[in-house]
Amino acid sequence: MLGAMQDWDLVVTHLIDHAAREHGPREHVTHWADGTETRATWASVRSDALKMVQALQALGIRKGDRVATLAMNHSRHLVSWYGAVGAGGVLHTINPRLFDDQLEYIANHAEDRVLLYDAAFQPIVDKMREKWTTIEHYVCYDPPAGFAGLGFEDWIGAYDGDTSWVAVDERDPCMLCYTSGTTGHPKGVLYEHRSTMLHAMAGVQPNSFDFDARSVMLPVVPMFHAASWGLPWAGAITGVKFVYSAVNDPAVLCELLEREGVTHSAGVPTVWLAMFQHCDATGTPLPKLQQAIIGGSAAPRFMIERLMKNGSRVAHAWGMTETSPIGTVGAPTPDWDSLSFEEQVEIVTRQGRPVFGVELRTVDLDDWTKELPRDGKTAGALQIRGPWIIKRYFKADEDAVTADGWFDTGDVGILHPDGTLQLTDRTKDVIKSGGEWISSVELENAACGHPKVAEAAAIGIPHPKWDERPVLFVVKKAGQDVTADEIMEHLTPLVAKWWLPDAVEFVDEIPHTATGKISKKDLRARFGDYRLEA
Ligand code: ADP
Repeated sequence: MLGAMQDWDLVVTHLIDHAAREHGPREHVTHWADGTETRATWASVRSDALKMVQALQALGIRKGDRVATLAMNHSRHLVSWYGAVGAGGVLHTINPRLFDDQLEYIANHAEDRVLLYDAAFQPIVDKMREKWTTIEHYVCYDPPAGFAGLGFEDWIGAYDGDTSWVAVDERDPCMLCYTSGTTGHPKGVLYEHRSTMLHAMAGVQPNSFDFDARSVMLPVVPMFHAASWGLPWAGAITGVKFVYSAVNDPAVLCELLEREGVTHSAGVPTVWLAMFQHCDATGTPLPKLQQAIIGGSAAPRFMIERLMKNGSRVAHAWGMTETSPIGTVGAPTPDWDSLSFEEQVEIVTRQGRPVFGVELRTVDLDDWTKELPRDGKTAGALQIRGPWIIKRYFKADEDAVTADGWFDTGDVGILHPDGTLQLTDRTKDVIKSGGEWISSVELENAACGHPKVAEAAAIGIPHPKWDERPVLFVVKKAGQDVTADEIMEHLTPLVAKWWLPDAVEFVDEIPHTATGKISKKDLRARFGDYRLEA
């Protein structure tokens, strides 16, 4: 027997229909690279997306075709998210910070047919055009005066929007995002309408982004990275006002936060750091937010403290491209109000709790069949499952999950009895010494607490007796001098004695990936012949 309720497929065009109908006049602001500003509304985003459907169809785009973007955050990009999927296409957001060989690989691998891009990325387009073998049409979002090609507003402006969304099934794909690929080629994650809808519905919850009709969100997280944490979809549910900046200048961001009455913002830790530096250097007060969402890398304690002292709720979130990306988000625990400020900060330094829809488990790093207790002590390989978690990479032959359906995240973490997740490392980076595991991340965090240290990275170096021992690479703050002994003295009270690095080496810089994370792979390659004595 089947139930007797209506058919209403979980397709993402419902989101924009709802937003235009229920929150139509709610506006969005875009601060463009040239300093000009434009305003749009949920209603205009929908009507422009419908025009874009017609424009794509005129180019021959059909269901399942990939429509790529190479763009910062702005309302035309938002239109394109809904326009591409509304045409039955698959939106592929390309990260302009990828290296040339990665840019070449992913657009060809995705078989993108159309590319919509910002004028600021014209040099990338010019450089890659010959190498991109499947892209037939190029459209520029903000064409400069005298531009010879196709400009976005002219392109969609030739149509009346009098059409409907292309019919799709809820299990059809709607979006494709590639991981930056710390090993080998980037890998594509193909989201479907259903997974995206469920993820969006989880995103607005009080325990997640905490959106309502009054929310004003300035997403610093780029629309090209990790599906922009699903914000363009989730925001439509409650009619969030988006404040976009196509430039990542902290002065512009701070001004917009104040002027537009922003209540929510989301970004990686370096974004918040840049904002702090700007405020300190100029004497500008740090804008107070209802909720500051930090994810992508671990939020340092001093950052959490400063934002909380400033009256903002801090939601520390964890996820990855493979998880759509929301996995866990920090939110107040039941005993929150009875905790001291320090205790609250301690909880927020952890990566939050799973949102409804995902399940987490940790397994023993030495025996991956053994599930670990949620005791707040034991670190293990973090695995996840749920309706918006990857099953198989785009075009891969095999599933990316265990026989019992869990995706291995490559992260190492501790699950606490209150449900919070504490990430301690990556499985590839955790250091095995004498049969015990040392967290490279905890060593780095401890080292970064030294006032003269700008950045630190720990890797395991082969050791004749202990298998591996940690070596710490340190970049000094500009104009500061510090010795290896001083670093060791600083670390001694902070970590277990056997975690102390066998050597501290000073370097001018630490290699980073295209998304700004420390590249341990490159660091290991650079110090491949480093040896430690027994
Ligand atoms: P990319 O490698 O392209 O940057 P992702 O954005 O998908 O890909 O990166 C996901 C990884 O980022 C996670 O597996 C985890 O290692 C790290 N990460 C994400 N959020 C956090 C966080 N809050 N704390 C620590 N690490 C995080």
